[in-house]
Amino acid sequence: MSRIAYVNGRYVPHRDATVHVEDRGYQFADGVYEVCEVHAGKLVDEKRHLDRLDRSLRELRIDWPLSREALRVVLREVVQRNRVRDGLVYFQVTRGVAKRDHAFPKVPVRPSLVVTARSSDPQANDAAAEKGVAVVTCPDNRWSRVDIKTVGLLANVLARQAAVEAGAREAWFVDRDGYVTEGASSNAWIVTGDKVITRPADDNAILRGVTRTTIIDMLADHGLTLEERAFTVEEAQKAREAFMTAATAIVMPIVRIDGVEVGDGKPGPVALGLRRALHSTAELA
Ligand code: PLP
Repeated sequence: MSRIAYVNGRYVPHRDATVHVEDRGYQFADGVYEVCEVHAGKLVDEKRHLDRLDRSLRELRIDWPLSREALRVVLREVVQRNRVRDGLVYFQVTRGVAKRDHAFPKVPVRPSLVVTARSSDPQANDAAAEKGVAVVTCPDNRWSRVDIKTVGLLANVLARQAAVEAGAREAWFVDRDGYVTEGASSNAWIVTGDKVITRPADDNAILRGVTRTTIIDMLADHGLTLEERAFTVEEAQKAREAFMTAATAIVMPIVRIDGVEVGDGKPGPVALGLRRALHSTAELA
């Protein structure tokens, strides 16, 4: 079956899905995006993803390319046309196409909207979760507004590549004071004692992950207490458990940080329990 993408009002074969060379997303990374998990044919936490898209667009003063309701229809259409039951739907909005100039276009331009969807293998992800994954750390050299989900991801790209070259699944960014901010495309967590610890999301130093918010909502039901504070790499290495969250990985146990085993080197019960329960708590629509 050939894949279908949505580009600015048209459903097109994936191989023909193109935008103009002077799209500002291409030239300036002047755009934002979302990745929403598709589980059993439903969008997971769609409302939170659309709310975050709205916030990102407002922060950059980009208009919605179409109404929220119309976007919901397009997302479902792309998921269905690609017959995705388990996978991801990606949607990206840029400021649009204009003569190259750093300042916003003087004449109104239509924001560009691209939507793609692809299937993933839930068993492969579950298999990774059963073994746990490794992370490596690197300095957080990103700009100071990483709370906005922009397509400007070069630092994240280089960090992830360094992780892959080190045989790890993810890179954790570390700020100047030695505290972990987040992963290249995930939020970072540790478990110590009876506390589940993750960095606060109110100082623009991390992206407020949708999965992160859903996990926070779940903790009390699992008899767990949240502590929102920064933690160091050393504290994470000595923690009972570590894990990461993202729409692309749900909850993924971390068993090695910079080569040091976390806990007994196996996925812990907190991460695995939250992973199992996530889809029964998240909103599926
Ligand atoms: N942090 C960063 C930098 C990300 O890119 C992502 C997801 O792509 C996340 C955190 C996790 O966010 P979410 O749970 O909404 O996927």
